[in-house]
Amino acid sequence: MTIKKVAVIGAGTMGSGIAGQVANAGIEVWLLDLPSEGNPNALAERGLERLRETVGLMSEDYEKYIKLGNTRDDFHQLGDCDWVAEAVVERLDIKRALYKQIDEVCSEETLVSSNTSSIPIKLLVEDMPISFRKRFAITHFFNPVRFMPLLELVRGDDTAQDVMDQLEGFCDKQLGKGVISCLDTPGFLGNRVGCFAIQAALQAANEMGLSPVQADAIFGRPMGIPKTGVFGLYDLIGIDLMSDVAQSLVNTLPSDDAFNVEAPKLPLMIDMIANGQTGNKQGQGFYRRVNGVREVIDLNTGEYSVAERLDLPLALKAEKEGVMHLLADDSLYGQFAWRVLSRTLSYAASLIPEVGDNPLGVDDAMKLGYNWIKGPFALIDELGSDYLIERLESEGREVPPFLREAAGSTFYRVNDGDLQTRVFGGGWRSIERPNGVARFNETRQTLAPQNTCEVASWFDLDDIALVEFHSKANALDGDSMAILADALDHVESKNMRGLIVHNDAQHFSCGVNLQAVRGFFRNEDMVGLDAFLAHFQNTVHRMSVASFPVVCAPVGMSLGGGFEVVLHSKQVICHANSTMGLVESGVGVIPAGGGCKETLYRWHETLGGDDLTKAAWKAFMNLGYGRTCTSPILAKEQAMLRSNDRFLSNRDRLLPKAIASIDSASEQQVFSRPDLAMPGVTEFEKMVKWLEQAHSDGKLTPHNVVVATELARIVTGGDVEAGSMMSEQDLYDAERRAFLSLIATDATRERINSMLDTGTTVQN
Ligand code: NAD
Repeated sequence: MTIKKVAVIGAGTMGSGIAGQVANAGIEVWLLDLPSEGNPNALAERGLERLRETVGLMSEDYEKYIKLGNTRDDFHQLGDCDWVAEAVVERLDIKRALYKQIDEVCSEETLVSSNTSSIPIKLLVEDMPISFRKRFAITHFFNPVRFMPLLELVRGDDTAQDVMDQLEGFCDKQLGKGVISCLDTPGFLGNRVGCFAIQAALQAANEMGLSPVQADAIFGRPMGIPKTGVFGLYDLIGIDLMSDVAQSLVNTLPSDDAFNVEAPKLPLMIDMIANGQTGNKQGQGFYRRVNGVREVIDLNTGEYSVAERLDLPLALKAEKEGVMHLLADDSLYGQFAWRVLSRTLSYAASLIPEVGDNPLGVDDAMKLGYNWIKGPFALIDELGSDYLIERLESEGREVPPFLREAAGSTFYRVNDGDLQTRVFGGGWRSIERPNGVARFNETRQTLAPQNTCEVASWFDLDDIALVEFHSKANALDGDSMAILADALDHVESKNMRGLIVHNDAQHFSCGVNLQAVRGFFRNEDMVGLDAFLAHFQNTVHRMSVASFPVVCAPVGMSLGGGFEVVLHSKQVICHANSTMGLVESGVGVIPAGGGCKETLYRWHETLGGDDLTKAAWKAFMNLGYGRTCTSPILAKEQAMLRSNDRFLSNRDRLLPKAIASIDSASEQQVFSRPDLAMPGVTEFEKMVKWLEQAHSDGKLTPHNVVVATELARIVTGGDVEAGSMMSEQDLYDAERRAFLSLIATDATRERINSMLDTGTTVQN
């Protein structure tokens, strides 16, 4: 059965998110909530509104797939639905009553699932007939549904295999989720370990006297955890909601579970919840913003004060070189890190075999559901199981049996080119992903790079050169480009099948490394800077004119220079949640890696005709405002992607798809970049006038005008007669000239310094 019509019941945070993701797949979905007095669909409408205000859809147009209704007037719609996803409040009695109603109207083919976070499946359906139980499962999504890839799929004793297969296939391929089959254990995998880690960090910070700012500086990027840290994450989820989740875990776990020690609220949190200081949704929690200034609460007094930025060399070192630097440090920060990590890693190890006989599910769940860079078992491998065991023993603490089994060894290994996990009780098992799914983070472990440096590498993947950027935020510099150039050389000289640029990090690339740019201007090395830009341009240009297939497969953000790499590939196969754009104007420069040139050509291609004027204005506006698009649909509308570029909802399917497209020549679109008849000086002057007007209306700062004037000069040809011809190389040269002239200004340098030193943009 193909799922063609879906109903989601409960239009709260999760229900509206699930409905949104079904709509993003282009599938009709009914979103029902309780009827309200007056406007009976008010709650469902509020759900859609919330969706718009938070993560949005791929484009507004996709709202047409969402039908809003209520459970009194529209319940009959369930009659021809293929899947009914229940996402009402976490109350067993309410859910059970609903299943009875669903069973009355739905066909015996309809799949039914619950989004419950804590109620065992046994309890949910124990009084339902077998005909219902066999098509019922738990589909546990994570918030926000559009962006969190994890889906925990839980089977009941009676759930039919084909029901599991259908839900898994749909959620993986249509909704883009990394589906993990879980046993029916409390909190499943993600929340069981994730909540433990959060609570352990909360208690440790409080007991050890660390402020939220100090705790978040450690329990964050340095541990491979999102930078929100623990207190920031509490604010994001909601202090009330997170406390409820912790409490519901306590209610379902056995009394001797180690989670119970970490679970209680801090005394201050009871007052905070009562006062409505429940986090971001209320505008104040552990943190708040007052007149743009970030403030933090004192955990003892409840008073707020300015949250000073904390630059800890230890944290930076750990982020760059590994978490061991934290644990080896005997400062309060090091002790905090050891306390939280040792408890979390031991807890995760103690759950095997209760939640599964190997570490993969837990590690995947923490990566996909909590955005950890590594799961707990991969972290133990990084530290060394012996280190952890010895240190636990030296403190007289218990060593979980599964950790003990890994003594002198690891939880993962590569054996004969095969990536394997340790299995409880002894032995190893190959890691097998569904057909068409591959993560380069895993594939990479079985390969040796052909050429590598600190910031990039390239690998030979079955006669395809795969270029991977791997610097912080995948910022690009001369070394990244040298690796890309070397891979291009090899594919050409060795007649390889083609080239793919891809990485499995959170973001494909956030742009050119501004530190490298600052290095040039601090040394007043304009010749060096021009050579760097020319090398960048030449390298991406070679991608666009290569005699072989070239594919970029980006995820997350591709900004600035990162997007210029994407723009020059012959096909893009990107993730549905990709964000892309040329944002250089914000730091006072213009795209000089072929970005201005390509934006102009693409608008010209999109709009057609001989006259370049409209295309020049479109390019001018998008580049001037540093426009970004938050989905490939929007990017196509803005001429940032071409007609043959594709997107997939599941990021783990990008690489196999990119490989397949290398062998399909028809997927590749060659670049035709003829000389252009430029609009010339009249149009240039119109743009400058427009800028002056916007400045006098208070809409642009003086330096915005300077930067945008350079953009206007490039896209019109500047001070030349209308119809003057410019080649692609002329446009590349114009970009470099503009970049160098802007970098010579104090205002641009001020912007770049501010971005690097404080992470903020200057409005000068
Ligand atoms: P919510 O409170 O935001 O929304 C629940 C919605 O259900 C409300 O709009 C309510 O009016 C509606 N509702 C209540 N009874 C109903 C009924 N009989 N018929 C139709 N609608 C009804 O809750 P939520 O956070 O979206 O959670 C929903 C479910 O998802 C819960 O089971 C929760 O445990 C689970 N969950 C929540 C999260 C999360 O982060 N919020 C994450 C994973 C799972």
